[in-house]
Amino acid sequence: MYYLKMLIDGQLVDSISGDATVIHNPANQEPIAEVPVGRREDVRLALNAAQRAFPKWAETTSQRRGEILHEGARLVRQRIGEIARLLTLEEGKPLKQAKREVLSSANALDYYAEEGKRNFGEWVPTESRQTRSLVIKQPIGVAAIITPWNYPVDLLAWKVGPALAAGCTVVAKPSSKAPLAATAFAQAVNDAGTPAGVVNVVHGSGREVGAELVENPTSRKIAFTGETDTGRWIMEHAAQHIKRISLELGGQSPFIVCKDASIDDAVESCVQRAFSNMGQICISVNRIYVADEIADEFISKFVDRTVELKIGDGLDPDVDLGPMFNEAQRQKTQEHIADALGKGAKVLCGGHEPEGEEYKRGFFFLPTVLSHANHTMRVMREETFGPVAPVMRFKTLDDALRLANDTRYGLAAYIFTNDLTTAIYAAERLEAGGIGVNVNSVIETQAPFGAWKLSGFGHERAHYGLEEYLEIKHIRFGLVR
Ligand code: NAD
Repeated sequence: MYYLKMLIDGQLVDSISGDATVIHNPANQEPIAEVPVGRREDVRLALNAAQRAFPKWAETTSQRRGEILHEGARLVRQRIGEIARLLTLEEGKPLKQAKREVLSSANALDYYAEEGKRNFGEWVPTESRQTRSLVIKQPIGVAAIITPWNYPVDLLAWKVGPALAAGCTVVAKPSSKAPLAATAFAQAVNDAGTPAGVVNVVHGSGREVGAELVENPTSRKIAFTGETDTGRWIMEHAAQHIKRISLELGGQSPFIVCKDASIDDAVESCVQRAFSNMGQICISVNRIYVADEIADEFISKFVDRTVELKIGDGLDPDVDLGPMFNEAQRQKTQEHIADALGKGAKVLCGGHEPEGEEYKRGFFFLPTVLSHANHTMRVMREETFGPVAPVMRFKTLDDALRLANDTRYGLAAYIFTNDLTTAIYAAERLEAGGIGVNVNSVIETQAPFGAWKLSGFGHERAHYGLEEYLEIKHIRFGLVR
């Protein structure tokens, strides 16, 4: 058993009430850790510590903040084995993917260690020769960071990195369902020489601990990743104090395969993006649209490749897929499949739990391909967050684009084509914050990651990520001669 603490004002502490809960491994439901359950008063302690630490941290040079972030990155890489193991144990993803996530989190710290030094202002031309105008950017204040369970380390790091680089102090609330690896990451940042109170971590429910972070006037910025409904609640309640917010919410990403696409590349990319982390990714492929001319070949190769994926305990180095995160996720996936079957879909592979003693105690489910999908099905319109890939054929590109955009979400969209004109035509018409052309990810360190429609607003990565933690100030000078 692992005994987790909260990190408040540089100290590892239990909750004031002494309450704690147990986290279980989704691969076998064994208990793995005891975690404190914080309440509103724990959050207030953390917010006050962050508020006290803010003025000094805001005035620390970007060089010094950069040194600390680089040291944090070094410690995260040094502890990668331990952090990645915690991640696999609590979330289920295979260890090699967990290591990739932890590496990405170290990269976030290194990137913003440097990007913070490029927080340039502007000296702007004025209407009169008797005045001068300077524009500077300053840290917002205390940033509350609220993150989900599916990429708990990565999603925390791409917020903590820019927040600290900008000069904000932080109170982070990782998902109460998967807080272990995220806290180990934050601990590494704290151990890097960060002054007490600059990085705080609280644990507890969204309804209580999350709500206090949003409602308490001390936090001036809310950086949130999670479900659209939670984002809506946060937006409403943050409005009370006119807080700056950024929301990375749910997705329902289409994957279009045109008749001129390289079919093998499209198949491999699509299998990875549909089933990796058991489809529990906001930018996962949720719907596949294939041109009629190549549909039979694509579907047959897609199914062949899907059934090859090896499923098992994430600690086994040979597995491609681990268990799902919990029973609720598995049940929702089953409900979406049943709904699709009732409306005419056919199962081409998967559709049920794998057989065998080793799968009995975990939340395992076979990656599932459905044919004959249509837009009356929940799986084509709602976020399943599970390993299901429904396929629909199309006749013209305009039909495919209309279907792809027939969603309330707008996070990512993918298209495979070898025709440049088709790629540009489609990319300009797809309604999403990130478009992948012949690639299965829209994530790039030096480019913005963000969303349209009900998938949220605000950006992470690149200089856009830093701006989310900065206020703009205009300083106007009158000259006396
Ligand atoms: P969730 O919204 O249930 O929880 C996310 C976080 O919010 C948790 O820490 C939770 O405790 C907290 N929370 C819950 N209610 C709250 C409230 N009232 N006030 C403040 N905080 C509250 O999401 P989840 O189930 O943990 O994660 C899955 C969701 O996250 C999916 O919808 C997925 O698409 C989304 N997601 C989006 C992105 C993206 O970049 N857009 C990335 C990953 C996951």
